[in-house]
Amino acid sequence: MTDLRSPLVRAGVLEPGGRWRNWGRSESASPAVIARATEVDEVIETVAFARDRGLTVKPIGAGHSFTAIAATDGVQLDISAIDGVLAVDGNLVTLGAGTNLYQLPALLEPLGLALANMGDIDRQTIAGATSTGTHGTGSAFGGLATQIRAATLVTADGGVLRVSADENPELLPAVALGLGALGVLVDVTIECVPAFLLHALEKPEAIDAVLADWGDRIAASDHFEFYVWPHTDTVLTKTNTRLPIDGERDPLGGFQRWFDDDFMANGVYRATLNLGRLIPPIIPPLNRLSVRLTGDRQFTDVSPKVFTTHRSVRFKEMEYALPVEHVPAAVERIRQLIADRGWRISFPIEVRASAADDLWLSTASGRATGYIAVHRYFRDDPAEYFEGVEAIMREFDGRPHWGKMHNRTAADLAPAYPRFADFVAVRDRLDPDRLLANPYLSRVLGL
Ligand SMILES: Cc1cc2nc3c(=O)[nH]c(=O)nc-3n(C[C@H](O)[C@H](O)[C@H](O)COP(=O)(O)OP(=O)(O)OC[C@H]3O[C@@H](n4cnc5c(N)ncnc54)[C@H](O)[C@@H]3O)c2cc1C
Repeated sequence: MTDLRSPLVRAGVLEPGGRWRNWGRSESASPAVIARATEVDEVIETVAFARDRGLTVKPIGAGHSFTAIAATDGVQLDISAIDGVLAVDGNLVTLGAGTNLYQLPALLEPLGLALANMGDIDRQTIAGATSTGTHGTGSAFGGLATQIRAATLVTADGGVLRVSADENPELLPAVALGLGALGVLVDVTIECVPAFLLHALEKPEAIDAVLADWGDRIAASDHFEFYVWPHTDTVLTKTNTRLPIDGERDPLGGFQRWFDDDFMANGVYRATLNLGRLIPPIIPPLNRLSVRLTGDRQFTDVSPKVFTTHRSVRFKEMEYALPVEHVPAAVERIRQLIADRGWRISFPIEVRASAADDLWLSTASGRATGYIAVHRYFRDDPAEYFEGVEAIMREFDGRPHWGKMHNRTAADLAPAYPRFADFVAVRDRLDPDRLLANPYLSRVLGL
Protein backbone atom coordinates (compact mmCIF):
# COMPACT_ATOMS: atom_id res chain seq x y z
CA MET A 1 0.00 0.00 0.00
CA THR A 2 1.29 3.42 -0.89
CA ASP A 3 1.70 5.76 2.06
CA LEU A 4 -0.86 8.43 1.27
CA ARG A 5 -0.10 10.68 4.26
CA SER A 6 0.29 14.07 2.63
CA PRO A 7 -1.35 17.48 2.86
CA LEU A 8 -2.29 16.88 -0.78
CA VAL A 9 -4.81 14.23 0.34
CA ARG A 10 -6.53 16.69 2.65
CA ALA A 11 -6.53 19.23 -0.19
CA GLY A 12 -8.40 16.72 -2.34
CA VAL A 13 -5.59 16.44 -4.88
CA LEU A 14 -4.59 12.85 -4.17
CA GLU A 15 -6.76 9.79 -3.84
CA PRO A 16 -6.10 6.05 -3.91
CA GLY A 17 -5.85 4.66 -7.43
CA GLY A 18 -8.26 2.35 -9.18
CA ARG A 19 -8.53 0.50 -12.46
CA TRP A 20 -7.91 2.55 -15.62
CA ARG A 21 -8.70 1.59 -19.22
CA ASN A 22 -8.03 3.44 -22.44
CA TRP A 23 -10.76 4.34 -24.95
CA GLY A 24 -9.94 1.46 -27.33
CA ARG A 25 -9.85 -1.09 -24.48
CA SER A 26 -6.44 -2.18 -25.72
CA GLU A 27 -4.66 -1.18 -22.48
CA SER A 28 -5.41 -1.09 -18.78
CA ALA A 29 -3.45 -0.25 -15.64
CA SER A 30 -3.80 0.12 -11.89
CA PRO A 31 -2.27 3.39 -10.78
CA ALA A 32 -1.34 3.38 -7.09
CA VAL A 33 -2.46 6.98 -6.70
CA ILE A 34 -4.59 9.39 -8.70
CA ALA A 35 -3.76 13.10 -8.53
CA ARG A 36 -6.08 15.79 -9.81
CA ALA A 37 -4.16 19.04 -9.97
CA THR A 38 -6.02 22.29 -10.39
CA GLU A 39 -2.99 24.56 -10.42
CA VAL A 40 0.72 24.44 -11.24
CA ASP A 41 1.79 24.32 -7.56
CA GLU A 42 -0.23 21.14 -7.11
CA VAL A 43 1.57 19.60 -10.09
CA ILE A 44 4.90 20.50 -8.48
CA GLU A 45 3.81 19.03 -5.12
CA THR A 46 2.53 15.86 -6.81
CA VAL A 47 5.87 15.39 -8.56
CA ALA A 48 7.63 15.81 -5.17
CA PHE A 49 5.18 13.37 -3.53
CA ALA A 50 5.96 10.71 -6.14
CA ARG A 51 9.71 11.29 -6.04
CA ASP A 52 9.80 11.02 -2.23
CA ARG A 53 8.01 7.65 -2.34
CA GLY A 54 9.91 6.18 -5.29
CA LEU A 55 6.82 6.22 -7.51
CA THR A 56 6.68 7.22 -11.16
CA VAL A 57 4.34 9.98 -12.41
CA LYS A 58 2.32 9.81 -15.61
CA PRO A 59 0.32 12.78 -16.83
CA ILE A 60 -2.87 11.50 -18.42
CA GLY A 61 -5.00 13.15 -21.07
CA ALA A 62 -8.30 11.73 -22.28
CA GLY A 63 -6.96 8.15 -22.48
CA HIS A 64 -7.48 8.06 -26.25
CA SER A 65 -4.11 6.55 -27.12
CA PHE A 66 -4.31 2.94 -28.24
CA THR A 67 -0.80 2.24 -26.95
CA ALA A 68 0.12 2.01 -23.27
CA ILE A 69 1.87 5.39 -23.55
CA ALA A 70 -0.36 6.84 -20.81
CA ALA A 71 -0.46 3.77 -18.53
CA THR A 72 1.12 3.78 -15.08
CA ASP A 73 1.20 1.81 -11.86
CA GLY A 74 2.54 4.90 -10.09
CA VAL A 75 0.85 8.30 -9.83
CA GLN A 76 -1.66 9.07 -12.57
CA LEU A 77 -1.71 12.85 -12.86
CA ASP A 78 -4.86 14.39 -14.28
CA ILE A 79 -4.56 18.09 -15.12
CA SER A 80 -7.90 18.45 -16.89
CA ALA A 81 -8.80 21.24 -14.45
CA ILE A 82 -5.86 23.28 -15.75
CA ASP A 83 -7.72 24.37 -18.84
CA GLY A 84 -9.06 27.31 -20.78
CA VAL A 85 -7.46 30.37 -22.32
CA LEU A 86 -4.64 31.82 -20.21
CA ALA A 87 -3.38 34.52 -22.59
CA VAL A 88 -3.89 35.87 -26.11
CA ASP A 89 -1.33 37.72 -28.21
CA GLY A 90 -2.63 38.17 -31.76
CA ASN A 91 -2.93 34.67 -33.25
CA LEU A 92 -0.97 33.15 -30.36
CA VAL A 93 -3.26 31.59 -27.76
CA THR A 94 -1.93 30.11 -24.53
CA LEU A 95 -4.13 27.33 -23.20
CA GLY A 96 -4.08 25.29 -20.03
CA ALA A 97 -2.55 21.98 -21.13
CA GLY A 98 -5.57 20.03 -19.85
CA THR A 99 -7.94 21.77 -22.28
CA ASN A 100 -9.89 19.29 -24.38
CA LEU A 101 -10.05 19.94 -28.10
CA TYR A 102 -13.85 20.01 -27.91
CA GLN A 103 -13.60 23.10 -25.68
CA LEU A 104 -11.75 25.04 -28.37
CA PRO A 105 -14.61 26.25 -30.56
CA ALA A 106 -16.21 28.06 -27.61
CA LEU A 107 -12.82 29.45 -26.55
CA LEU A 108 -11.47 30.45 -29.96
CA GLU A 109 -14.55 31.56 -31.89
CA PRO A 110 -15.01 34.74 -29.78
CA LEU A 111 -11.40 35.57 -30.71
CA GLY A 112 -12.14 34.96 -34.40
CA LEU A 113 -9.58 32.12 -34.39
CA ALA A 114 -9.38 28.39 -35.04
CA LEU A 115 -6.84 25.57 -35.19
CA ALA A 116 -5.21 25.39 -38.62
CA ASN A 117 -5.96 21.69 -38.93
CA MET A 118 -7.51 18.92 -36.84
CA GLY A 119 -7.76 15.14 -36.75
CA ASP A 120 -10.90 13.02 -36.78
CA ILE A 121 -12.15 13.65 -33.25
CA ASP A 122 -12.00 16.31 -30.55
CA ARG A 123 -12.04 14.29 -27.31
CA GLN A 124 -8.28 14.52 -26.66
CA THR A 125 -6.55 17.05 -24.43
CA ILE A 126 -4.25 19.51 -26.10
CA ALA A 127 -1.31 18.08 -24.10
CA GLY A 128 -2.11 14.47 -24.94
CA ALA A 129 -2.74 15.20 -28.60
CA THR A 130 0.43 17.18 -29.20
CA SER A 131 2.56 14.76 -27.15
CA THR A 132 1.81 11.82 -29.48
CA GLY A 133 1.87 13.70 -32.79
CA THR A 134 -1.86 13.84 -33.46
CA HIS A 135 -2.50 14.95 -37.04
CA GLY A 136 -5.24 15.43 -39.58
CA THR A 137 -4.83 15.54 -43.33
CA GLY A 138 -3.61 18.14 -45.82
CA SER A 139 -0.34 18.06 -47.74
CA ALA A 140 0.37 21.71 -46.89
CA PHE A 141 -0.38 21.28 -43.16
CA GLY A 142 1.52 19.69 -40.28
CA GLY A 143 0.12 18.00 -37.20
CA LEU A 144 -0.97 19.81 -34.05
CA ALA A 145 2.56 19.86 -32.61
CA THR A 146 3.78 21.97 -35.53
CA GLN A 147 1.45 24.73 -34.34
CA ILE A 148 2.94 24.86 -30.81
CA ARG A 149 5.04 27.99 -30.32
CA ALA A 150 5.74 27.77 -26.57
CA ALA A 151 5.10 25.54 -23.58
CA THR A 152 5.60 25.39 -19.83
CA LEU A 153 6.56 22.11 -18.16
CA VAL A 154 7.00 20.94 -14.62
CA THR A 155 10.09 18.76 -14.84
CA ALA A 156 11.08 15.71 -12.81
CA ASP A 157 13.16 17.80 -10.38
CA GLY A 158 10.08 19.90 -9.58
CA GLY A 159 11.34 22.87 -11.58
CA VAL A 160 9.28 24.94 -14.00
CA LEU A 161 10.77 25.01 -17.50
CA ARG A 162 9.65 27.60 -20.03
CA VAL A 163 10.28 26.82 -23.68
CA SER A 164 9.60 29.49 -26.30
CA ALA A 165 11.28 31.50 -29.05
CA ASP A 166 13.08 33.46 -26.29
CA GLU A 167 13.59 30.85 -23.57
CA ASN A 168 15.28 27.50 -24.27
CA PRO A 169 14.20 27.63 -27.94
CA GLU A 170 16.43 24.67 -28.82
CA LEU A 171 14.09 22.42 -26.78
CA LEU A 172 10.89 23.27 -28.67
CA PRO A 173 11.31 20.57 -31.38
CA ALA A 174 11.48 18.00 -28.59
CA VAL A 175 8.94 19.44 -26.13
CA ALA A 176 6.18 20.08 -28.70
CA LEU A 177 6.01 16.34 -29.36
CA GLY A 178 7.53 14.89 -26.20
CA LEU A 179 5.59 11.61 -25.68
CA GLY A 180 4.97 12.70 -22.08
CA ALA A 181 8.61 11.78 -21.40
CA LEU A 182 10.12 15.20 -20.73
CA GLY A 183 7.90 16.69 -18.04
CA VAL A 184 4.32 17.62 -17.22
CA LEU A 185 3.01 20.21 -19.67
CA VAL A 186 0.95 22.81 -17.82
CA ASP A 187 0.37 25.26 -20.65
CA VAL A 188 0.96 25.42 -24.38
CA THR A 189 0.88 28.36 -26.77
CA ILE A 190 -0.64 27.58 -30.13
CA GLU A 191 -0.41 29.61 -33.29
CA CYS A 192 -4.01 29.75 -34.45
CA VAL A 193 -5.35 31.03 -37.77
CA PRO A 194 -8.32 33.27 -38.53
CA ALA A 195 -11.51 31.23 -38.24
CA PHE A 196 -12.60 29.67 -41.54
CA LEU A 197 -15.32 27.59 -43.10
CA LEU A 198 -14.79 24.23 -44.73
CA HIS A 199 -16.72 22.92 -47.69
CA ALA A 200 -16.90 19.13 -47.39
CA LEU A 201 -17.37 16.88 -50.40
CA GLU A 202 -17.72 13.20 -49.58
CA LYS A 203 -18.30 10.60 -52.29
CA PRO A 204 -17.57 7.03 -53.32
CA GLU A 205 -14.99 6.64 -56.10
CA ALA A 206 -13.16 3.81 -57.86
CA ILE A 207 -10.03 2.85 -55.97
CA ASP A 208 -7.83 2.53 -59.06
CA ALA A 209 -8.50 6.11 -60.12
CA VAL A 210 -7.89 7.51 -56.63
CA LEU A 211 -4.61 5.62 -56.19
CA ALA A 212 -3.43 6.64 -59.67
CA ASP A 213 -4.17 10.32 -58.90
CA TRP A 214 -3.01 10.34 -55.27
CA GLY A 215 -0.19 12.87 -55.74
CA ASP A 216 -2.37 15.25 -57.77
CA ARG A 217 -5.36 14.89 -55.47
CA ILE A 218 -3.46 15.84 -52.31
CA ALA A 219 -1.73 18.73 -54.12
CA ALA A 220 -4.99 20.09 -55.53
CA SER A 221 -7.02 19.94 -52.28
CA ASP A 222 -6.60 21.63 -48.93
CA HIS A 223 -7.53 18.49 -47.01
CA PHE A 224 -7.94 15.23 -48.91
CA GLU A 225 -8.35 11.76 -47.43
CA PHE A 226 -9.96 8.48 -48.37
CA TYR A 227 -11.28 5.35 -46.75
CA VAL A 228 -10.68 2.00 -48.42
CA TRP A 229 -13.43 -0.50 -47.75
CA PRO A 230 -11.81 -3.95 -47.76
CA HIS A 231 -13.49 -6.47 -50.09
CA THR A 232 -14.71 -3.68 -52.40
CA ASP A 233 -13.16 -1.70 -55.27
CA THR A 234 -14.60 1.52 -53.93
CA VAL A 235 -13.17 4.15 -51.64
CA LEU A 236 -14.96 6.96 -49.86
CA THR A 237 -13.13 10.22 -50.61
CA LYS A 238 -13.36 13.32 -48.43
CA THR A 239 -12.23 16.63 -49.89
CA ASN A 240 -12.39 19.66 -47.61
CA THR A 241 -11.85 23.13 -49.06
CA ARG A 242 -11.08 26.18 -46.92
CA LEU A 243 -13.40 29.19 -47.37
CA PRO A 244 -13.60 32.62 -45.73
CA ILE A 245 -15.56 32.65 -42.47
CA ASP A 246 -18.09 35.17 -43.81
CA GLY A 247 -19.05 32.89 -46.72
CA GLU A 248 -22.35 31.08 -46.98
CA ARG A 249 -22.85 28.14 -44.63
CA ASP A 250 -24.75 25.04 -45.58
CA PRO A 251 -24.43 22.87 -42.48
CA LEU A 252 -25.78 19.38 -42.10
CA GLY A 253 -29.24 19.64 -40.60
CA GLY A 254 -29.61 18.34 -37.07
CA PHE A 255 -31.55 15.30 -38.24
CA GLN A 256 -29.15 14.57 -41.11
CA ARG A 257 -26.10 14.87 -38.85
CA TRP A 258 -27.73 12.52 -36.35
CA PHE A 259 -28.82 10.09 -39.10
CA ASP A 260 -25.45 10.04 -40.95
CA ASP A 261 -23.00 10.35 -38.07
CA ASP A 262 -24.78 8.77 -35.12
CA PHE A 263 -27.41 6.40 -36.45
CA MET A 264 -25.67 5.17 -39.64
CA ALA A 265 -21.98 5.65 -38.82
CA ASN A 266 -22.26 4.54 -35.21
CA GLY A 267 -25.56 2.81 -34.41
CA VAL A 268 -26.23 0.78 -37.56
CA TYR A 269 -22.52 0.29 -38.06
CA ARG A 270 -22.14 -1.22 -34.57
CA ALA A 271 -24.97 -3.65 -35.35
CA THR A 272 -23.35 -4.71 -38.65
CA LEU A 273 -20.00 -5.19 -36.91
CA ASN A 274 -21.58 -7.48 -34.35
CA LEU A 275 -23.39 -9.37 -37.11
CA GLY A 276 -20.13 -9.73 -39.06
CA ARG A 277 -18.45 -11.22 -35.97
CA LEU A 278 -21.14 -13.88 -35.79
CA ILE A 279 -21.18 -14.61 -39.55
CA PRO A 280 -17.83 -13.51 -41.10
CA PRO A 281 -18.76 -14.40 -44.72
CA ILE A 282 -21.31 -11.58 -44.75
CA ILE A 283 -18.60 -8.94 -44.09
CA PRO A 284 -17.80 -8.31 -47.80
CA PRO A 285 -21.46 -7.66 -48.77
CA LEU A 286 -21.91 -5.57 -45.62
CA ASN A 287 -18.88 -3.48 -46.59
CA ARG A 288 -20.33 -2.94 -50.06
CA LEU A 289 -23.56 -1.82 -48.44
CA SER A 290 -21.74 0.47 -45.99
CA VAL A 291 -19.84 2.28 -48.73
CA ARG A 292 -23.12 2.88 -50.59
CA LEU A 293 -24.89 4.19 -47.49
CA THR A 294 -22.20 6.42 -46.00
CA GLY A 295 -20.84 8.45 -48.95
CA ASP A 296 -22.17 11.17 -51.21
CA ARG A 297 -22.91 14.39 -49.41
CA GLN A 298 -21.69 17.99 -49.32
CA PHE A 299 -21.97 20.64 -46.67
CA THR A 300 -20.23 23.79 -45.48
CA ASP A 301 -19.66 24.67 -41.85
CA VAL A 302 -17.15 26.13 -39.39
CA SER A 303 -13.92 24.14 -39.51
CA PRO A 304 -14.14 22.13 -36.24
CA LYS A 305 -17.58 20.81 -37.22
CA VAL A 306 -16.20 19.53 -40.52
CA PHE A 307 -12.80 18.24 -39.39
CA THR A 308 -14.13 16.22 -36.46
CA THR A 309 -16.86 13.65 -36.05
CA HIS A 310 -18.34 11.71 -33.19
CA ARG A 311 -17.08 8.12 -32.78
CA SER A 312 -19.05 5.90 -30.48
CA VAL A 313 -18.13 2.52 -32.01
CA ARG A 314 -14.97 1.45 -30.21
CA PHE A 315 -12.08 0.07 -32.25
CA LYS A 316 -8.37 -0.66 -32.08
CA GLU A 317 -6.03 1.09 -34.46
CA MET A 318 -2.54 1.02 -35.91
CA GLU A 319 -1.30 3.87 -38.09
CA TYR A 320 1.92 4.21 -40.02
CA ALA A 321 3.54 7.26 -41.57
CA LEU A 322 5.48 6.68 -44.78
CA PRO A 323 7.04 8.76 -47.54
CA VAL A 324 3.99 10.18 -49.28
CA GLU A 325 4.83 8.78 -52.72
CA HIS A 326 4.67 5.19 -51.42
CA VAL A 327 1.00 5.41 -50.39
CA PRO A 328 -0.58 3.85 -53.53
CA ALA A 329 1.81 0.88 -53.55
CA ALA A 330 1.40 0.33 -49.80
CA VAL A 331 -2.40 0.41 -50.02
CA GLU A 332 -2.32 -2.14 -52.84
CA ARG A 333 -0.04 -4.39 -50.79
CA ILE A 334 -2.46 -4.29 -47.83
CA ARG A 335 -5.43 -5.14 -50.07
CA GLN A 336 -3.45 -8.03 -51.53
CA LEU A 337 -2.49 -9.22 -48.05
CA ILE A 338 -6.15 -9.26 -46.95
CA ALA A 339 -7.11 -11.20 -50.09
CA ASP A 340 -4.20 -13.66 -49.78
CA ARG A 341 -4.87 -14.41 -46.14
CA GLY A 342 -8.64 -14.69 -46.57
CA TRP A 343 -9.27 -12.28 -43.69
CA ARG A 344 -12.69 -10.66 -43.34
CA ILE A 345 -12.00 -7.05 -42.37
CA SER A 346 -15.02 -4.91 -41.59
CA PHE A 347 -13.29 -1.60 -40.77
CA PRO A 348 -12.10 0.74 -43.52
CA ILE A 349 -8.44 1.68 -44.04
CA GLU A 350 -7.94 5.43 -43.60
CA VAL A 351 -5.43 7.26 -45.81
CA ARG A 352 -4.23 10.82 -45.18
CA ALA A 353 -1.33 13.18 -45.98
CA SER A 354 0.68 15.85 -44.22
CA ALA A 355 3.53 18.27 -44.81
CA ALA A 356 7.08 17.55 -43.69
CA ASP A 357 8.10 19.15 -40.38
CA ASP A 358 11.21 19.53 -38.26
CA LEU A 359 10.06 18.12 -34.92
CA TRP A 360 12.49 15.48 -33.71
CA LEU A 361 10.01 12.66 -33.05
CA SER A 362 7.28 13.69 -35.46
CA THR A 363 6.21 10.87 -37.77
CA ALA A 364 6.46 13.50 -40.54
CA SER A 365 9.92 14.64 -39.48
CA GLY A 366 11.93 15.62 -42.54
CA ARG A 367 9.62 14.14 -45.15
CA ALA A 368 6.27 14.78 -46.84
CA THR A 369 4.14 12.04 -45.35
CA GLY A 370 1.25 9.75 -46.12
CA TYR A 371 -0.60 8.05 -43.28
CA ILE A 372 -2.25 4.66 -43.52
CA ALA A 373 -4.38 3.53 -40.58
CA VAL A 374 -5.91 0.09 -40.09
CA HIS A 375 -8.62 -0.69 -37.57
CA ARG A 376 -10.40 -3.61 -35.99
CA TYR A 377 -13.53 -3.71 -33.90
CA PHE A 378 -12.49 -3.50 -30.24
CA ARG A 379 -13.87 -6.97 -29.48
CA ASP A 380 -11.71 -8.55 -32.23
CA ASP A 381 -8.08 -9.58 -31.82
CA PRO A 382 -6.12 -7.29 -34.16
CA ALA A 383 -2.72 -9.00 -33.77
CA GLU A 384 -2.50 -11.01 -37.00
CA TYR A 385 -3.84 -8.22 -39.25
CA PHE A 386 -1.78 -5.48 -37.62
CA GLU A 387 1.41 -7.55 -37.69
CA GLY A 388 0.90 -8.31 -41.38
CA VAL A 389 0.34 -4.64 -42.19
CA GLU A 390 3.25 -3.58 -39.99
CA ALA A 391 5.62 -5.83 -41.96
CA ILE A 392 4.55 -4.03 -45.16
CA MET A 393 4.95 -0.62 -43.54
CA ARG A 394 8.50 -1.46 -42.49
CA GLU A 395 9.38 -2.20 -46.12
CA PHE A 396 8.20 1.32 -46.98
CA ASP A 397 10.32 2.91 -44.23
CA GLY A 398 7.21 3.50 -42.11
CA ARG A 399 7.13 5.16 -38.71
CA PRO A 400 4.35 4.17 -36.27
CA HIS A 401 2.03 6.74 -34.67
CA TRP A 402 3.14 7.00 -31.04
CA GLY A 403 -0.43 6.76 -29.77
CA LYS A 404 -1.55 3.82 -31.94
CA MET A 405 -0.75 0.14 -31.65
CA HIS A 406 2.59 -1.14 -33.01
CA ASN A 407 5.42 -3.48 -32.08
CA ARG A 408 8.49 -1.31 -32.64
CA THR A 409 11.28 -0.79 -30.12
CA ALA A 410 13.94 1.86 -29.48
CA ALA A 411 16.53 -0.23 -31.32
CA ASP A 412 14.64 -0.12 -34.60
CA LEU A 413 12.99 3.29 -34.14
CA ALA A 414 16.31 5.10 -33.62
CA PRO A 415 17.45 4.67 -37.25
CA ALA A 416 14.03 5.88 -38.46
CA TYR A 417 14.45 9.31 -36.81
CA PRO A 418 17.57 11.38 -37.58
CA ARG A 419 17.19 13.33 -34.30
CA PHE A 420 16.30 10.33 -32.09
CA ALA A 421 19.58 10.52 -30.15
CA ASP A 422 19.05 14.25 -29.54
CA PHE A 423 15.63 13.55 -28.07
CA VAL A 424 17.04 10.86 -25.79
CA ALA A 425 19.77 13.28 -24.68
CA VAL A 426 17.12 15.85 -23.67
CA ARG A 427 15.23 13.12 -21.81
CA ASP A 428 18.44 12.11 -20.02
CA ARG A 429 18.93 15.72 -18.98
CA LEU A 430 15.35 16.49 -17.91
CA ASP A 431 14.45 13.11 -16.40
CA PRO A 432 17.67 11.27 -15.52
CA ASP A 433 15.93 9.08 -12.91
CA ARG A 434 13.00 8.26 -15.22
CA LEU A 435 10.34 9.65 -12.91
CA LEU A 436 8.06 9.97 -15.96
CA ALA A 437 8.82 6.53 -17.38
CA ASN A 438 6.50 3.62 -18.00
CA PRO A 439 7.04 0.31 -19.82
CA TYR A 440 5.90 1.75 -23.17
CA LEU A 441 8.37 4.65 -23.02
CA SER A 442 11.14 2.25 -21.97
CA ARG A 443 10.32 0.12 -25.00
CA VAL A 444 10.26 2.93 -27.58
CA LEU A 445 12.90 5.26 -26.12
CA GLY A 446 15.10 2.86 -24.17
CA LEU A 447 15.56 2.57 -20.41
C1 LIG B 1 -11.49 7.53 -31.79
C2 LIG B 1 -10.07 8.06 -31.93
C3 LIG B 1 -9.77 8.86 -33.01
C4 LIG B 1 -8.46 9.34 -33.16
N1 LIG B 1 -8.17 10.12 -34.25
C5 LIG B 1 -6.90 10.54 -34.46
C6 LIG B 1 -6.56 11.34 -35.59
O1 LIG B 1 -7.41 11.70 -36.41
N2 LIG B 1 -5.25 11.68 -35.76
C7 LIG B 1 -4.28 11.28 -34.91
O2 LIG B 1 -3.11 11.59 -35.13
N3 LIG B 1 -4.58 10.58 -33.79
C8 LIG B 1 -5.87 10.21 -33.55
N4 LIG B 1 -6.15 9.48 -32.43
C9 LIG B 1 -5.08 9.23 -31.45
C10 LIG B 1 -5.08 10.33 -30.37
O3 LIG B 1 -5.18 11.61 -30.93
C11 LIG B 1 -3.76 10.29 -29.58
O4 LIG B 1 -3.52 9.01 -29.09
C12 LIG B 1 -3.75 11.33 -28.44
O5 LIG B 1 -2.53 11.24 -27.77
C13 LIG B 1 -4.82 11.12 -27.41
O6 LIG B 1 -4.86 12.25 -26.55
P1 LIG B 1 -5.27 12.07 -25.03
O7 LIG B 1 -5.58 13.41 -24.47
O8 LIG B 1 -6.29 11.02 -24.91
O9 LIG B 1 -3.87 11.59 -24.41
P2 LIG B 1 -3.53 10.25 -23.60
O10 LIG B 1 -3.73 9.09 -24.49
O11 LIG B 1 -4.21 10.26 -22.29
O12 LIG B 1 -1.97 10.47 -23.37
C14 LIG B 1 -1.08 10.45 -24.47
C15 LIG B 1 0.31 10.88 -24.04
O13 LIG B 1 0.28 12.26 -23.69
C16 LIG B 1 0.90 12.41 -22.45
N5 LIG B 1 0.31 13.56 -21.75
C17 LIG B 1 -0.98 13.78 -21.46
N6 LIG B 1 -1.10 14.92 -20.76
C18 LIG B 1 0.16 15.41 -20.61
C19 LIG B 1 0.72 16.55 -19.98
N7 LIG B 1 -0.05 17.43 -19.34
N8 LIG B 1 2.05 16.72 -20.03
C20 LIG B 1 2.85 15.85 -20.68
N9 LIG B 1 2.38 14.76 -21.28
C21 LIG B 1 1.05 14.54 -21.25
C22 LIG B 1 0.63 11.12 -21.71
O14 LIG B 1 1.53 10.95 -20.63
C23 LIG B 1 0.86 10.14 -22.81
O15 LIG B 1 2.23 9.95 -22.98
C24 LIG B 1 -7.44 9.01 -32.22
C25 LIG B 1 -7.77 8.21 -31.12
C26 LIG B 1 -9.08 7.75 -30.98
C27 LIG B 1 -9.42 6.88 -29.79
